[in-house]
Amino acid sequence: APVIGVLALQGDVREHLLALAEQDVLARPVRRAEELAEVDGLVLPGGESTTMSRLLSVFELFEPLRERIADGLPVLGSCAGMILLAREVLDGRPDQRSLGGVDMVVRRNAFGRQVDSFEADLDVTGLPGGALRAVFIRAPWVESAGSDVEVLARVPEVPEAGAAAGRIVAVRQGAVIATAFHPELLAGDRRVHEMFVHAVRER
Ligand code: GLN
Repeated sequence: APVIGVLALQGDVREHLLALAEQDVLARPVRRAEELAEVDGLVLPGGESTTMSRLLSVFELFEPLRERIADGLPVLGSCAGMILLAREVLDGRPDQRSLGGVDMVVRRNAFGRQVDSFEADLDVTGLPGGALRAVFIRAPWVESAGSDVEVLARVPEVPEAGAAAGRIVAVRQGAVIATAFHPELLAGDRRVHEMFVHAVRER
């Protein structure tokens, strides 16, 4: 079975490990470069991207991870993880670094500071079985994406979405998948993790 790591510096580590434990994979926390070297795929969890970016440098994981992603490591990033995967971050902290796993510009806290959380039913390309209940928590969105990036989902045109309607909130480039929402918090719906495990197996 493939070994799938969860970057375990901060954030929704436990929730992602639990979601992966329901798949036919070996799920492991990753904190050190030696652990990173052993995984076939990696999850970057939701949490706080500025803190995670800082800890990646402190733990000397930033460069090894950037290199593995450039070499084609399958990655699933949710929320803060999406921000970490961006080529460029808007409204980030001055010292915030990102890995460039997806050719996209991501805006942090894009739904507005007052909008703590927001839920919507999303149609996600490639997910069978109908809409996915997406939970957004101080979420980013994708401001723009390159032509090699497949848009998997946008915020639906519903009144609650306000100015966020139509914004890109899930993307895929090769074996790298990023969501602005938190699939790890949907205990009853593991379709995003299944899609990622499928991408890992394809490699
Ligand atoms: N606002 C957070 C950040 O900038 C992301 C929020 C989340 O992951 N729930 O990193």
